[in-house]
This record gives sequence, C-alpha cells and structure tokens, in this order.
Amino acid sequence: MPEVKAYWQNYIDATWTDGGAGRIVVNDPSTGERLAEQALANAGDVNRAVVAARTCHETGVLSTMRPAERGRMVRAMGDYLLANVDIIAEGLCREAGKPLWEAQLELEGAARYFEYYGNQAETLEGRSIPFGKGYYGFTTYEPYGVSAQVIPWNCPLEMAARSLAPALATGNACVVKTPELAPLSSAHIAEAAEHAGLPRGAVNILCGLGREAGEALVGHRGVNQIVFAGSVPTGMSIASAAARNVVPCVLELGGKSAAIVLPDADLDELVSSVRWGIFFNAGQGCSAMSRLIVHDDVHDEVVQRVADMAGSISVGPGVDRPHFGANMGAMISAAQRDRAEAMCREAERQGARAVVGGRKLNQPGYFLEPTIFDGVTPNMNIARDEVFGPVLSVLKFREDEEAVHIANGTNYGLVGGLFSADVARAMKIAARLRVRQVFVNEWFANSVEMSFDGYGKSGYGRGKGRESLWNYVQAKNIAIALQC
Ligand code: NAD
Repeated sequence: MPEVKAYWQNYIDATWTDGGAGRIVVNDPSTGERLAEQALANAGDVNRAVVAARTCHETGVLSTMRPAERGRMVRAMGDYLLANVDIIAEGLCREAGKPLWEAQLELEGAARYFEYYGNQAETLEGRSIPFGKGYYGFTTYEPYGVSAQVIPWNCPLEMAARSLAPALATGNACVVKTPELAPLSSAHIAEAAEHAGLPRGAVNILCGLGREAGEALVGHRGVNQIVFAGSVPTGMSIASAAARNVVPCVLELGGKSAAIVLPDADLDELVSSVRWGIFFNAGQGCSAMSRLIVHDDVHDEVVQRVADMAGSISVGPGVDRPHFGANMGAMISAAQRDRAEAMCREAERQGARAVVGGRKLNQPGYFLEPTIFDGVTPNMNIARDEVFGPVLSVLKFREDEEAVHIANGTNYGLVGGLFSADVARAMKIAARLRVRQVFVNEWFANSVEMSFDGYGKSGYGRGKGRESLWNYVQAKNIAIALQC
C-alpha cells in the first residue's frame, strides 16, 4: 500500500494553506503510530474561509449560476472521487482504521451524494400563488448564503458529502470543519471541487480543534446556516451558538437504536443484519443496531447465533482486510476504545453477561472485540447510553407492547428495526416506534433518497432525501400588482 502523504494542508479561498494553530498529529488507529500531520486552523483561518465564502456568495457567481450547470459541477465532484477511489480509500482506511472495503464503500456513498444532489439542482421549482384579480404572486427559492458544516470522524467523507452536496446544489458557498481525528481524506473533496471548476470560495475545507476552529465557525456572524453531525453535548453547544446569531441549524446526533425480533423472524437474515448493524465501522455509526429486543420464544437461539457470528469476525488492521467479509477494523482512538471497554465493565457490574467479547485486543492499535451482552435490562446504562463501538445488548420481551416500551425507552430516536414474517404485525409496531426510520427485515434498508433526522436527542432538520434541499434555501414570495 502506498505511503500516506506526511503533511496535509487546509483549503481556504482556493488556496492550499498552513494552519494558524500549527499542526496536529493523526495516528493510524490500527497501529497507534503516527500516520501524518494535518494543518490546524485557528479563528483567523476560519474568518478567512468565511469571508471567502461570503465573497463568493455576494458576487452571485455560484448563486445565480444556471442550476443545471451547478448540478453538473456537483456531480463532477462525485466523479472525481470515484475516479480516484483506490488512493482515497486507502488513505481513509489508514486514518480511520476501517477495513479497506468499508473505506471504498464510504467513498462510493460520498460520491452518490454528489450524484443525487447534482441531479436535484435544477428541480427546485417555486409555485404561483393565486390571490385574486389584479395580482400575480409566486415563490422562488434562494440559497441562504454561507453554510457552515461541522463533521464527525466516524464517516468523514460521507458525512461531509451529505451536507456539502445539497448546499452547493442549491447555490450556497460552504465552509467545512473536518474532524481532528480523521481529517486527511477530506482534502480530496477540495481537490474534487477544484477539478469540477467550482468558483473560488465556494468550497473551503479546514481542520481545527472543536473548541477553537469549530466554535469560531459556528459563532461567526458571516455564517447563515449551520449543519452539524456529532455528539449531543456538542450539538447543544452549536444550537446555542446558532440561536445567538439567529441562524437555522441542522443537528444530526447520536442514537441507541433497537431491532425487535418477533418469533417468526428469518434468523439467517437477522444474523446477517446484526453483522452489518453493529460491527460495520466497528459499531461507530449513529444508526448502529446497538440493542436487540428479542421475543422470549427465540431468545436463546438468537443469542447463540449472533454470538457465533460475532466470535467468527476477524479483527485487525483494515489494510489487511481488503475484501468484504466477516472482518472488522479498529476503533478511532485509544480514548474511544477505552471508554467502550469501561462501559462493558460497568454492564457486567450491573448484571449483564458478556456472551462473547468485551475486552480490548492485546496488540497495538485501538481494537475492541466484537461484543454481545445478554441479560441486559432496560434500566442498565448499557441499554440506554450510546457506546459508539462494537457492542450489542440483548434484551427480552413477551408482549409486543413491552417491546415497543423498551425500544422507545431511551433519550434517542434515530432508527429502529423489526424482524418478522408478519407484515401487518410489523407495521403496527413500526407505527409506534419513536424513530425517524424503521428497517423491516433488513438493517440499513435505506439510501440517500430517504430523508433522515431524529426524535428526541437524536437531532432535528432533514438530512438526506429531497427534504434536505429545504435546509439550504429560503423561500421568497413575490407579489406583483398588475396595473391593467
Ligand atoms: P463530537 O461532537 O465530539 O465532534 C463532532 C465535530 O464537532 C468535530 O469536528 C469536532 O471538532 C467538532 N466540535 C467539537 N466541539 C465543538 C464545539 N464546541 N463547537 C463546534 N464544533 C465542535 O462528535 P464525534 O465524536 O466526532 O462523533 C460521534 C458522534 O456523532 C456520535 O454520537 C454519533 O452518533 C454522532 N453522529 C451522528 C450522525 C447522524 O447523522 N445523526 C452521523 C454521524 C455521527
């Protein structure tokens, strides 16, 4: 595998630039060793990026461009990523600790956002509003102006693409703050913007510390709209910053998502879904299937089968796991891995039983064993708090009502799942789940086209789907009094 470049700069006002706050070392999670250095932006860099984006917006070079043309450019960004999939995915695999095939999948997902929203650019049509003889009224949609986007480390490319693509397609100039734990690959998005011919200042990509560059960005008076994906405490702080400047904000936060297994479920499909649901990206996904609520009649068989599957997963460096299969990479950092392991110890103290896993691997790198806890009850912390690691909690139920109650019993409400051959029964339960997406008989049965946000502390504002476009535009009504 080729060497990762030793030093990565930020991209501000169409210029590759060093950071006012110096550099940050990025480690390879699969070895714990230094991988590269990334320029760190300070508040001055953030200010330059926002000014560049504002200038781009105010000249109208992006906002008044013919939407079809903007759409072509957005699509071309995705094409650039796909054309460079090998090199970009290898870098992502190294900096985020993912198996290579997962990194490729993430890159393809990012490219798909650029394709989807590029195609949507020319579909944003207003309507005419009848309000009587002598008047002509109609609606148009205008970009907000400068969109500030703060990105988490778990899927840095895909998450940046999720907000950047619709923001650009609707004509906003963007400043993207990349995550300090996995910032490197985002530079390729800036290259993609250059390659696609986006105007100067339309795309600014910088890394900086949350407390420094992140706060400077979301509190900047030149920002008109904010998108954040990350943890609940940071989301609350960003929502407060947005409120102080009276700008809208989209929050995509955490989850503690549950799959309910009815007695007639197809257990082969279930086991395959558990494999994806909790072990993809080492469980570091907002929509991870972190709870399995299983009917008493099939509980023992389900626990046995998912434990066998978890025990068969090969855990180790992502570069040695290039192909799709029963394998898993590292967690992002020693701190995240140790936090997850501490939550496993606490679960045991509270009476849960680790059927498999629960410990870090005795080797370099930030690895945690694929873990299944049985005997979990709804009041335990492991049943309520997001681990953000490869840890599944199994709970039992007898009546459907009880399953719904357990599933809805956390502060979150991102996604949920149901496994049953009885569609009518599944639909009844689905209607009662306080989540934004319900997967029936396959976890992650969703796509870019389906909108997404959350109930409760999982956030608000539509991400994905056509609905996401409305985050980035203001509606303007124009009424003409006809003189004749
Ligand atoms: P985090 O909140 O620690 O950091 C996210 C980003 O916010 C980083 O870029 C960080 O630098 C920045 N940041 C931190 N403090 C800031 C501040 N005060 N002001 C401005 N920016 C600040 O989250 P994380 O650990 O990177 O990500 C994991 C969390 O993200 C999990 O809870 C996960 O569920 C959630 N997530 C949600 C979605 C979704 O779509 N709902 C998607 C991905 C991740």
